[in-house]
Amino acid sequence: MPHRTELYHEVPPTCWPIVYSPDYNITFMGLEKLHPFDAGKWGKVINFLKEEKLIADDLIVQAREATEEDLLVVHTRRYLNKLKWSFVVATITEIPPVLFLPNFLVQRKVLKPLRTQTGGTIMAGKLAIDRGWAINVGGGFHHCSSDKGGGFCAYADITLAIKFLFERVEGVSKATIIDLDAHQGNGHERDFMDDHRVYIMDVYNRYIYPGDGFAKRAIKRKVELDWGTEDTEYLQKVQTHVEGALNESRPDIIIYNAGTDILDGDPLGGLAISPQGIVKRDEAVFRAARSHRIPILMVTSGGYQKRTARIIADSILNLHNLGLIDKELATSEAKNPKVELMIRESILDLTNLSLQ
Ligand SMILES: [Zn+2]
Repeated sequence: MPHRTELYHEVPPTCWPIVYSPDYNITFMGLEKLHPFDAGKWGKVINFLKEEKLIADDLIVQAREATEEDLLVVHTRRYLNKLKWSFVVATITEIPPVLFLPNFLVQRKVLKPLRTQTGGTIMAGKLAIDRGWAINVGGGFHHCSSDKGGGFCAYADITLAIKFLFERVEGVSKATIIDLDAHQGNGHERDFMDDHRVYIMDVYNRYIYPGDGFAKRAIKRKVELDWGTEDTEYLQKVQTHVEGALNESRPDIIIYNAGTDILDGDPLGGLAISPQGIVKRDEAVFRAARSHRIPILMVTSGGYQKRTARIIADSILNLHNLGLIDKELATSEAKNPKVELMIRESILDLTNLSLQ
């Protein structure tokens, strides 16, 4: 029997399946500036989308913080206890000064934002099933597994979202992870090693962190890239392998880890994809998901440059302009039988109305 959770509450149909909370952003006396990560990028994405009048505060879904019980669905108590040591969190987040903070501050200023983003990914999983698609503006902590964090990732949000769906949503028994962040997603790979319900496709720079040879054994479709890979080659590989992955796996849900550290000039990613290339990549993935009629959950994952937030917002706007994401389309195209039933009932209501 699954535990009681606040993360699967009903969302008003007037909301976009876009999940966010101001609590995502890490701000603490400039400490966040010591990491190459733009620790306010999530809020900036939302601000750009508001400026473009795509969304408003009351039309997005407010993320809730994942509780200890929620986290225990995947994490070991041993691991969660380790996060009570500031030096452990300093190592995982790669913000060395965190080492000198008392743990209550580390909890409040660093881990709470990450737990809220984790709650957001879990919530977006259910929304994707209900609505055909969902975007968590944060999350995508793909280096964290049940018993180990690293590379800024303290909680295994992708594993959690999938396990919640398997446990709580009837008809969801197969998932495909499409991980297009510049780094190998060794966290979810370790978590789903030998789990045949989860198919993993991973496209990454073969020479950078984490180079986790053991975790690579969990990848069903591995695309290793060289330094400085550019748009044409990249987009062709993404297109071919996304199509191949979906034909091979036929999942009930796609988890799309849409890291933007593939961007040209990224100090960590080592690839050379243009902003337009990122927009085209997201478009290709959503197009494939929609043409196969598979619900898709997107998380934003890595991406460390100042211009990243603008690119993510541009990509979401592009998806909307092309009709690949929309409130109405989402419900009418969803594979979920519950949604189809709702639509049929509402058509029935309309028919009755005209009869009266
Ligand atoms: Zn990355």
